[in-house]
Amino acid sequence: MARDSRVPQATVLLSGGIDSAAVLALLKSQGMQVRCLFVDYGQPAAEQELVASSSIASHFLAPWSSVSISGLKVPANQEIKGRNDLLIAVATSCNQDAVIALGTHAGTPYVDCSITHHHAWQDLYDVQYSGVQRLLTPFIERAKPEVFALARELSVPISLTYSCEASGGPCGVCVSCKDRSALDDVSNPRV
Ligand SMILES: [Zn+2]
Repeated sequence: MARDSRVPQATVLLSGGIDSAAVLALLKSQGMQVRCLFVDYGQPAAEQELVASSSIASHFLAPWSSVSISGLKVPANQEIKGRNDLLIAVATSCNQDAVIALGTHAGTPYVDCSITHHHAWQDLYDVQYSGVQRLLTPFIERAKPEVFALARELSVPISLTYSCEASGGPCGVCVSCKDRSALDDVSNPRV
């Protein structure tokens, strides 16, 4: 489809998990021009996430690309300092798009998933790009069950997503696996 220059182009940071897949589905449903970026920064599940990310992009007929960053020492199963800063900065540079979107949601203890962090980044964008660059985090005030419900409503192909922080998962013990199993219980109540 030809690009419409009146509509801002967005890059969605598509990790392969449910949250970013739901962001992609949401922006597409709103008529935005969207392309997807996967960042391999050496996370343990990079290989599985990459497959999930590209499959989800294909499902939504969205252009997809990946970028690799080597040499980082990424700790397993714990907070990765600066992770979202890294992802946002890479996405900003990578496609030069006016909108960068990511699937951070409420209910996590991580500062880089908070509204304060979002505002700090938007302030930085405003300093650098005079108000034309936007950070979009549509789920920043929505908790995971709400995001999951929206994902189902938007027909996100849940089976294509990958939500474990370990390689070769699902491991069943990481934060993402626990999140996911709680959601599966909600969506498939045992009565
Ligand atoms: Zn896991």
